[in-house]
Amino acid sequence: MISHNLFREVAQHGYTYVQLAGFDVEKPDLIDRLEIESLTTEEIYVPQPVIEVTKCKFCGICSGYCTEKAIQFNRFVPSVTLIVSRCCACGNCQKACSRNGIKMKEKHVGKIVTGRLGMHQIIAGKLDPESEFKIPLIKALLERLNPEAICICDFEPGLDLAVKVALEAMDVAVIVLQNKPDWKQHLDEMIAITGKSKILTGLVLNKTEENSSFLSEVEEDCNLRSLPIWGIIPDFRTLENKKVLNINDNSKIFMLPVTGIWDAITKSHLHFQSTYNETFTQH
Ligand code: SF4
Ligand code: SF4
Repeated sequence: MISHNLFREVAQHGYTYVQLAGFDVEKPDLIDRLEIESLTTEEIYVPQPVIEVTKCKFCGICSGYCTEKAIQFNRFVPSVTLIVSRCCACGNCQKACSRNGIKMKEKHVGKIVTGRLGMHQIIAGKLDPESEFKIPLIKALLERLNPEAICICDFEPGLDLAVKVALEAMDVAVIVLQNKPDWKQHLDEMIAITGKSKILTGLVLNKTEENSSFLSEVEEDCNLRSLPIWGIIPDFRTLENKKVLNINDNSKIFMLPVTGIWDAITKSHLHFQSTYNETFTQH
């Protein structure tokens, strides 16, 4: 909901192309909100390695060539097992096997849907319910983002491997935190990735009241990390003048007070770019 509201906020700034991208491929709620007559669907097929046990000699070489640690080799049993959820379909294992023990077989992993919501352009992925081959679908979605647009990408909560892959392709990461017992751990994990990939990172605090102890704790933590807080959104259930936007008969979207968040992000981005350029030219 925050990404959708932020997307609307950005769209109002007069950019020619703004795109909302749904990366929550296991729970693609966004697709249900699109106008049916605007929908186009692309079925996504990806070559998945399949180990042919009749040809495999259990040497383990393919496992050593898999940078994603998607092939488990057990020399004592012996056995070779593919962990589909880690596989990015690069095909290196097949090339590494001199015994013809791996075939790449086309698998249907899901679909990518594009459509409109009012004036807005939206793209979203939907993983097949039975499929664990999520990383290739996420990559297919990344390849189809409009390179001329400002893309607001909506991710699932948490940080699985596929989310990490997509996150590394972003310019800016907006971490949405709210008062949950594990917020510090979640923040540490996110910062570990965005810091490593040199992605501009900041926070939006959701369901957070001014003067709350949670806000004080986060502010203190952010000061230590030099991490900006780009916005604070109160719990919309406590808002006196909450607005509800009726998108269609089946869907309602609460208008959250995200005004100012985009301006804060662009200000940080300008500062980040100038700092990065200075650092870059000094070396
Ligand atoms: S490299 Fe080929 S033969 Fe060796 S374990 Fe892998 S699939 Fe089997
Ligand atoms: S296709 Fe690539 S990622 Fe998948 S198992 Fe083979 S080497 Fe690993």
